[in-house]
Parts: sequence; C-alpha cells; structure tokens
Amino acid sequence: MKVLSHTLGFPRIGPYRELKKAQEKYWNNQITKEKLFNIGYNIRKFNLNKQIDNHIDLLPIGDFAWYDHILNTSLMLGNVPIRFQKKIDNSINIDTMFYIGRGSIHNKKALNASKMTKWFNTNYHYIVPEFYKNQSFNFIWKQLLIELDEAIKMNINNIKPILIGPLTYLWLGTKVENNNFSRLELLKNILPIYIEILLEIKKRNIQWIQIDEPILALELPEKWLKSFKNTYDILRNNISNDINILLTTYFGGISHNIELIKLLPINGIHIDLVNGKDNIEYINNNISKKWIISFGIVSGRNIWKTDLKKWYDILISIKNNRPLLWIGSSCSLMHSPVDLNLEFKLDKKIKNWFSFAIQKCQELYLIVKAINNNDPSQLIEWSKFIYTRKISKKITNIQVQKKILLLGNNIINNRKHYDTRSILQKEKLKLPLMPTTTIGSFPQTSDIRKLRSDFKSGYIDYNNYKKNMKNHIKNIINIQEKLDLDVLVHGEPERNDMVEYFGENLNGFVITENGWIQSYGSRCVKPPIIIGDISRSKPITVYWSQYAQSLTKKIVKGMLTGPITMLLWSFPRDDISPIEITKQIALALKEEIYDLEKSNIKIIQIDEPALREGLPLKKSEWNEYLNWAIESFHLTISSTKDETQIHTHMCYSEFKDIINSILILDADVISIETSRSGTNLIKLFKKLNYPNELGLGVYDIHSPNIPSISKIQSFLIEALKNISFKKFWINPDCGLKTRTWEEVIKSLHNMVQATKILRKKYNYYLK
Ligand code: GLN
Ligand code: ZN
Repeated sequence: MKVLSHTLGFPRIGPYRELKKAQEKYWNNQITKEKLFNIGYNIRKFNLNKQIDNHIDLLPIGDFAWYDHILNTSLMLGNVPIRFQKKIDNSINIDTMFYIGRGSIHNKKALNASKMTKWFNTNYHYIVPEFYKNQSFNFIWKQLLIELDEAIKMNINNIKPILIGPLTYLWLGTKVENNNFSRLELLKNILPIYIEILLEIKKRNIQWIQIDEPILALELPEKWLKSFKNTYDILRNNISNDINILLTTYFGGISHNIELIKLLPINGIHIDLVNGKDNIEYINNNISKKWIISFGIVSGRNIWKTDLKKWYDILISIKNNRPLLWIGSSCSLMHSPVDLNLEFKLDKKIKNWFSFAIQKCQELYLIVKAINNNDPSQLIEWSKFIYTRKISKKITNIQVQKKILLLGNNIINNRKHYDTRSILQKEKLKLPLMPTTTIGSFPQTSDIRKLRSDFKSGYIDYNNYKKNMKNHIKNIINIQEKLDLDVLVHGEPERNDMVEYFGENLNGFVITENGWIQSYGSRCVKPPIIIGDISRSKPITVYWSQYAQSLTKKIVKGMLTGPITMLLWSFPRDDISPIEITKQIALALKEEIYDLEKSNIKIIQIDEPALREGLPLKKSEWNEYLNWAIESFHLTISSTKDETQIHTHMCYSEFKDIINSILILDADVISIETSRSGTNLIKLFKKLNYPNELGLGVYDIHSPNIPSISKIQSFLIEALKNISFKKFWINPDCGLKTRTWEEVIKSLHNMVQATKILRKKYNYYLK
C-alpha cells in the first residue's frame, strides 16, 4: 500500500489576509454579502489548488470559517445563544456568526458577544459554545455540505471533510450561568445531529472523514474518558461501515490514553509527533494493523523546514511493518503563515531555513514520494538547510552563551523583601491613594500608523520620524495631564505590536512582511521569528520614555514586554530549549531596565499577558513550566533597584490555575482584568492574602461603551469591601490602542472622577 499525505487544515485568511479585509469591509457596509461570499470561495479554491499542486492526497474540507471553526460547529448544531435568538428569528445565516462573535444590538439593547478563549495552548482564540440544561440541537447551518459539494463541482474528489468531535466540542463549551448540569448530559441530544451529518457525508461517496478530538492529548477526568467508547459506538452503529473515521489528535502526546483509543470503532488515528512525546514504536505496536496511523511530522505551528531526512529514516522502518501509513501536518496549518514566497526582504540564506503552509505541503509530498519510492536523495538536499542553520554564524553569539552558562541553575533575585521595597517606593514616588494609571498604549491613529510606515519604507528620514513621534508623545502626555491621571505613560506610538517591536530591536529575531496568522475573527498577528541567540546592542525604549518624562512632573512608567510573552508570541527556534530562549530575552531586558533606571525612570511595567496560556496541556507538567516562567521574570528584574517599582500586567481573569505563581512572582504591582469577572477575582486575591499592590481593571476596553462614573464607583466600592484601599491602583483592563480618542478621553475622565470621589468620600488622603 502506498503511503498517503494529508493536511489537517489550511490557513483560511488568504495569502494577503483577503478574508480579514473582506470581513471588515462587509461589517462597514462597504461590500455586499455576495462579494464576501465570492472572496471566501476564491480563498477556498486557492487553498485546494495549492495543495493539489503539491500532490496532497487527501484535501481537507471544513477548515474554512467566516469567523471561527468552533463557531461553525455551534451553528452547524443549531446552538445559538438564547439572547441572539430573537434577533435572528430562527433563521441562521452568516450574520448570525458575526453577531455571536462580535456582539450586536437588538431593540436598542446590547447583546454581548460570546466569550472568546485560547484554542488549547495556541495564540488562536475560539468562540466558546454556550450550553444550557436539556438543550436541543438541530442540523441547521449546512456550510460543510455546501463546501463539500463545491469541491466536488470543481472535480476534486479526494476530499476529507473535517468535524470537531462531539466530546471536544462539549469540553470546549461553557455552561450558561445558574445551570447545574454536566455538559456530558447533552451528548444524547448532540449525537443524533452528528449522525445526520455523517449520513449526509456518506451520500457523497466520501471515503474518509476526519474527526478532531484534540482533548485526547489532555489529562481528562475519568467520566469524560469513559464517554469516548460509548459515543463512537453510537456513531458507528448508525453510519454503517462504509465510511472511514480518522480520529485526529494534536498539540500533545496521547500514549496515556492509548488503551482507550484502541477500543474505539474507528479506522485510524492521527498523532502529533512534533508537539507530543509519544514513542513511535510504542504507538505502532499498540495500534491494530488494520488501522491507518497518520503521523504528524510537519509542524503546523512553527516555521522551520522539516528535517525530512531524519523522518525518512524513522518512518521507513515503520512502513515495513505497517501497510497503512499516512503522513501529515502535526495539526492544522492555520497556525502558520501562508506562503514563504511572499517574503521579498528576508536574507536569502535565512529564508531557506523556513517553510510556510504552502512549502509545508511540498514537504509532505517530498517525504511521501521518497518513502514510496525508497529513495531519499531529494530529502538530503532539503535537509541540508537544517545543517547549514546549525552551523551558521548568524545564530550564535558566544557572549550571550557565556552569560547564560555563568548564570548556572540558580537565578538569584537580589531584590529585598516586598515590605522593605514598598517603604522605599512610597517615599520616592509620593503617589496619592489608589493611584490612577493606564496599561500603556493609547489610540493608534491613522496618523501614527502612517508615520511608522513612511519611516519604514524610507519616505521620511529618522530625524523627521523622531520629530513627529515626539509630537505624538507630547500630545499623549498633555491629554493625560489634563485628565489628571497619576502615573503617565508615553503611549507606545512607536510600536505596531508589543512583541514585534522588541523583536525588531533585539538581535536574534527576524521580522516577516506577510507572515500573518489568525488570532481571532478578523484579527491577525505577525509573530517575529527567533532565529538565534538574543542580545541587545543598544537601548530600545529609553529615548521615548525619557522624552515623555521630560515633559511632565508626574511619573512616567517605562514599558517592556516580558520574556514569556516574547517567547510565546514569536515563532521560537527549535534547536535550544524555551527555557534558554527566555533566559536570553530576560538578560537583554535586564540591560534595558538598567538603562531606564539610569535615565531616572522610576516605575517600569513588564507585560506578561501570555503567561497563563503557556500552561502545558497536561496538568502534571504545569509546575515545571511555571517554575521557569517565573524564574525568567525574576532574572529580568534581578538587579533592579528596590526603590524602582516593578509593575506587571496580565489581561485576563482566570488566575485560579496560576495564583500561587503570581504570589511568587512578587511584582510590586500587578494589573489584572476585573471588569468582566466581577469581584470573584478580587476574592481570590483576598483569600490568598496577597501582600503586594493590585491594579484593578475597572472597565472593559474591548467594548466601545463608555463606563459611567457611577458604574465605576459601584464596582470600586464592591472591590474595597474585599481588599484594603491601600493596595489598589485604578486602571482600564488593558491597553487602549484599539479605541478612539473620543472613547478613551471620556472613559478615562470617568475613571479618574470616580476615583477622586471615592478618595474624598472616605477621606483617604495622603498627607
Ligand atoms: N502595554 C500593552 C498595551 O497597553 C499591553 C497589551 C496587552 O496586555 N496585551 O497595549
Ligand atoms: Zn492586556
């Protein structure tokens, strides 16, 4: 039997972010629905053709989504949150998706968008399904069938439809408040719909269907594990044997669940060999020879060329005793950029080290061909670049490596105990009680964006750029003074993105022109690539912070992006450990802090919004991760003066899993998202007896609504019942870069006024 190639999904944004542009135009009434549909169709056609060009044997259908693939599944099952049902009159269409994803208004009342959360440990956000007790489901939204028929009409027959498995779907959802039931109770209502869909697929003479159950890589509770056998028995009994199920898992190993998987009535299993640690022999010996095993060896989540020769040597011996072998991407390619050929500015040698989605398809073709022909000669050519990278001078910096060696295993944080630091800082900073501040960025107006791009493309020189940038900063400082905020920021106008900016300014990173990946809805990010040892050759933020400070008597905070966020929101190198990478970043940031202190910056904020998402999929690995993550923060501040106040910011509210680490992190002030989570989060900090200061995110910056003074006040009064006023800072829940100036000024005005009224009311004045 021939070895076959397949992908688990292809990026849906289009090579030039066509989907994003079309979505946004449609939302602004600049294009019609027909035009939007047309753009979607063209992207799907492009994706299929690119995979056909590279001889991919089984082509994924169902990987396209107008907003999010989990939202697709929700609509397919007729799961529309109750609050939207009136608005849509029970007729689900594409607008329904956008209402649920983005929120809407009905009879002058705001309908909140469904929550978004991270897709496992990636930086993609999915729309969380909402469940309620005894909910019923219907097969309503038939996008999958339409797209299957569309491909068949293009005369493409080697298609493989994708469904999110019923258990993963239920696991990813949330129960609507006050509903006391188990999500598993809904299985019996959901499975008939899955059967209906599978039967429809069967009618189209399709051989293989891909059912994604990535939760098998987690350490699941017993009752969820037990549900697998029953669920798949029911599906199988209702669809007969002529349709083959490939169960797909990704993002982690599944050996711990192999006994369970073995018993399922399926026809094949996909395993992620890039992100998981499964032993191939073990898997091979444990899985029936009647099954397909699909090995995911081409990373869907990183951009390095695959060492095809290495995999050839491993897989060729498996092939000899397993007739049914497939080779695929580790997970969907949606987490990698589309086409390396759209990078025109990258150094040619470095570019040879990378593979984006289209090139990854080429890799799959090459390895499958080599295995089928017993001829690895072309692979040797391909893998050459892995070795030229290893020995390239571009990636090594002996100085950095020496510094890391010298550090050894003991990272010593020289700062004194918080009690001592806090006294020194109070003396130095002389802030009022409950100081008001912001998280760093201010609106990125089109003027600001144009200025940056004019400079980047060489239309204006550095002096001109600097002069104009300073004007923006001056304006931002003026506005904050007028608002009477207590601790000011320079506004980050020079940064297009908090990670890319530092990537651009540190050695060891490269930046792409078109390496976009979807983050959520129409939002895409362009992660920098860490190619080598990281170092800092000159101060990065000092000039701007110092200038901002020179304009005001108030204190201006310096702003840095922390090592974990830098790591997780980049494409990391794969030849040294993430621990080592973060240590290198930490050392570079440490130098930056030293220079900021020298320039008289008294407060420095180190943002770590990605800290939580880095938690490994398996709980048993959490502690190890948290230890090195916290250690990298400590290394960053290890020589910071005690009187310099260190802030950190994490923009989410799920702290339950990491709360003890936050305590150990020991930042002088941590600002958190509290506006949407009510006082639950504050109670968590109270229970912990959290000794340091807390910045309360008192309003939601993701919404254009202006929070009223009384709303902020009542929120604060609730919070003050739990934790002493002496510990609080007042701020929005995240950076303001996506908002308009009008919204920002009104909201911050109300925030400052609410704080002042409270200060007065309780007579909490500082002498
Ligand atoms: N300082 C950054 C900003 O204000 C923080 C952004 C974030 O937390 N994601 O934009
Ligand atoms: Zn944030």
